[in-house]
Amino acid sequence: MADDPKTPNARQLRPATLMVRGGATRSEWGETSEGLFLTSGFVYPSAERHLARMAGEEPGYIYSRYANPTVRMFEERLAQLEGAEDCRATSSGMAAVNTMLTAACKPGDRIVAPRALFSSNIWILKNVMPKMGVEVTFVDGTDLSDWKKALSRKTRFTLIETPSNPMLDAVDIRSVADLTHAAGGELIVDNVFASPILQKPLQLGADWVVYSATKHIDGQGRVLGGAILGRQKAIEDEVQQYYRHTGPSMSPFNAWVLLKGLETLDLRVRKMSENARLIADRLAGNPAIHTVRYPGRSDHPHHNIHASQMPEGGGSLVAFAVKGGRKAAFAMLNRLRLIDISNNLGDSKSLITHPATTTHRTLTDEERAEVGLTDDWIRLSVGLEDPADLAEDLEQALAG
Ligand SMILES: *Cc1c(COP(=O)(O)O)cnc(C)c1O
Repeated sequence: MADDPKTPNARQLRPATLMVRGGATRSEWGETSEGLFLTSGFVYPSAERHLARMAGEEPGYIYSRYANPTVRMFEERLAQLEGAEDCRATSSGMAAVNTMLTAACKPGDRIVAPRALFSSNIWILKNVMPKMGVEVTFVDGTDLSDWKKALSRKTRFTLIETPSNPMLDAVDIRSVADLTHAAGGELIVDNVFASPILQKPLQLGADWVVYSATKHIDGQGRVLGGAILGRQKAIEDEVQQYYRHTGPSMSPFNAWVLLKGLETLDLRVRKMSENARLIADRLAGNPAIHTVRYPGRSDHPHHNIHASQMPEGGGSLVAFAVKGGRKAAFAMLNRLRLIDISNNLGDSKSLITHPATTTHRTLTDEERAEVGLTDDWIRLSVGLEDPADLAEDLEQALAG
C-alpha cells in the first residue's frame, strides 16, 4: 500500500526484544530513539512521483491521517507483540471500538455482547449500532448456554472484555470464538484489562483485538490512544477506507509516547500484577471487607478460565466489596492518603474508584444488578508503588 510501507523487521524475536525494537526504523541521521515525525503531510520530488504515490504505485507516506512513520512504528511494534498481522492506531480506545464496528457493520448485521462491558462500549452498542440498522443482543458473558442461545442465529460480531469491568468476570475466549465462528461471525476482544502481556486472544481463537493504549500501554497517565489489530487483509478490506476517510488517526506525538510505553510494558505489567496479587491476598483477610475478587486467586468464581487464559498473572486490577455499602465505601476512599481517586486504570500510580456511582453511573439499577455491581464494590488499579505502602494505606482507610 502506498501509504503503508513495511518496516524491515520480520525476524521472529521474543516479546521483550520486540517491545524495545519492534517496528523501529531509523532516518538518515541514525538516531538511537525512535524519531518523532511531527508532520501532517509529506512532499514529493516531482509531479510524476506525487502521481505514483497517490496511485499506490510507489510506497511512501502521503498524509498523516492515513499513515505516519512514528505511528507506523507503534502499529508494527504492537502487532508484533500481539502476534497480529497488522494494526491501525487510533486517537483513543473508543475510536478503535467505534471505527472497528462502524467500518465493518452494515444494516441487517447482528452483534452479540455481554452486559458487563466498559460503559462507552455499551453506549456504542445501544446508540450507534441501532442507528445503522445493526441489531444488538446482550447476554450474560459468563454463561455459555446464554451465548449458545444467542448465537443460534447468524451473527456478524461478538464483542467481549475479559476480565470484565469492574467485576473482573472471565469470559471463555475459546468457547465464544467457536460459537461465533459457527454463527458465521468474528470475535472482537477488548483486551485492555489483561494487556498484551498477560493474555493473547488471537491465540485463543479471536479474530480481532482492540485496545485503549491509554491504559497499560502508556501506563504513565500522559496520552490517549487506541489500536485495532487483526488479519492484514481483513483490515484492508473492512477498516482501511473508513479509517482513512473519517479521521480517527493517532497523533504522531502520542504514538511516540506510546512507543516508549511499549519499551517498558512487560516490566510494568508483570510488576503491577505481582503487586495486585499481594494486595488482593492482604485485603482478603481484612475485617472491613466481605468479598475480594482477583482473577489470580483461587476463590475467584471464574478462576479456572482466568488461569487458562492469563497463565502468567491475574492483572493489575482488584475489586473488593466493603461492609456498609456506599457510605462505608465513600468514607474509605476519602481516608486514603496515597492512592488517588480516579476512574483511570493501568497507571503506574495506584488509582481507585467507586464504579456504581462513577464509571457505571449511567446503567440502570437493573443493569447494575445483572452484572452484580452493588454499592459495596470498589475497583482498585494497582500501580508500581511499594506494595507495603499501598497495603498500609488501604488498611488505615478501611480501619477508619
Ligand atoms: C478505557 C477503556 C476503553 C476506552 O478507552 P479510551 O482510551 O479511554 O477511549 C475501552 N475499553 C476498556 C475496557 C477500557 O478500560
